[in-house]
Amino acid sequence: MDPRIRPLPARHARREEGDPRPRRLRALDRRLHARPAALRPGLRAGRALSLRGARLLIDLPRTASTVIVGGGIVGVAAAFFLGERGETDVLLLERDRLGAGTTKGGLGGIRHQFVDELDVRLSQLATTFWREFEERTGSRHDFAERGYLFVAETEEGMAQLRGPLALYERLGVPVEMVDRIRIRELVPGMRVDDLRGGRFCERDGYGDPLAALAGLGAAARLAGAHLVEGAAVTALLREGDRVIGVRTAHGDVRSERVLVATGCWTAALCATAAVSVPIWAYRRSIMESGPLPALMKIPLVGRKDRPLRQPPTPPRSRRSRCRRRSSRGSARGRRGAIPRSPICGSSTRGPVTTR
Ligand SMILES: Cc1cc2nc3c(=O)[nH]c(=O)nc-3n(C[C@H](O)[C@H](O)[C@H](O)COP(=O)(O)OP(=O)(O)OC[C@H]3O[C@@H](n4cnc5c(N)ncnc54)[C@H](O)[C@@H]3O)c2cc1C
Repeated sequence: MDPRIRPLPARHARREEGDPRPRRLRALDRRLHARPAALRPGLRAGRALSLRGARLLIDLPRTASTVIVGGGIVGVAAAFFLGERGETDVLLLERDRLGAGTTKGGLGGIRHQFVDELDVRLSQLATTFWREFEERTGSRHDFAERGYLFVAETEEGMAQLRGPLALYERLGVPVEMVDRIRIRELVPGMRVDDLRGGRFCERDGYGDPLAALAGLGAAARLAGAHLVEGAAVTALLREGDRVIGVRTAHGDVRSERVLVATGCWTAALCATAAVSVPIWAYRRSIMESGPLPALMKIPLVGRKDRPLRQPPTPPRSRRSRCRRRSSRGSARGRRGAIPRSPICGSSTRGPVTTR
């Protein structure tokens, strides 16, 4: 076993009580990006050589059975699962740092409460995996099964919440409709007088995307995968109807399979092989507070008919917006984009067209 790779403490990248408050947004970004050494052995082992401080000359293999493009949670998880199945000739290429895309901004919510049967079934499988994470990867990751509570203010919202109940019952997902009294029990102190009710699933919860990525990445490396950072794929190589490899600034890599796991950036990359993938970015925001002990054990709460909104602010330059945010108290905002596709609501699947 590689002595540099150790089980990773969960929540390594999140702010904990006692951490110094970051002074600038860049410091906040560094904290969110803090990555354990287990994800960086390649750099220290000399696989990448620094040129004039900034540019990296990366010695890539010329062939691989599977090339994965993108080192977010999807790409790294794919490398892990291929390793579990005994495939060792896996090369993952990430243009930035592992987890630097949407994954670093994710909330980590894991829920069954979807409206599409396939999504619910995927979550059932995923829940089993998250429970066994430590055993399967050798790394720690806290899957906090505290439940997910959706609340509604209107009858219309309540009707939406009731909509998929028959589906949950058929699939054996324990979901209950809850009244205000139960909501107060679940989230002590929450204002409920303006609510009609809610829907709660105790099996839902949340994890830490970067801790999960670190554990999956370390295990994938142990299984033989090469995870390379700073290696952007500039084009997919296509011969007739097949993608036969990828082009990078460090040379071409030929491969039997190419898995594109580039999230929001998928459409542009696939276009280089004349494949049209209808995915675009959808902006989401998140606000981070300091630790609030009274709220540490409550479920994740979402509003069905009126999402949390930031009041509109007059337009100003990006720079001054950042300053304004960072000069406020302990709550800080972050923005990120998630991939969306018209094929279905939440996950991306279905046919794509080639030209
Ligand atoms: C505020 C917010 C809250 C969220 N909350 C949740 C939640 O509660 N639950 C949940 O399940 N999801 C949530 N999400 C969504 C979730 O974070 C994303 O769906 C997930 O991280 C996407 O992972 P990915 O690996 O597909 O993409 P990414 O993490 O974006 O990874 C793609 C990677 O590909 C790399 N890349 C792109 N182009 C190239 C190229 N040409 N060559 C090499 N590398 C390339 C990028 O640098 C990037 O690292 C949230 C997202 C946001 C923004």
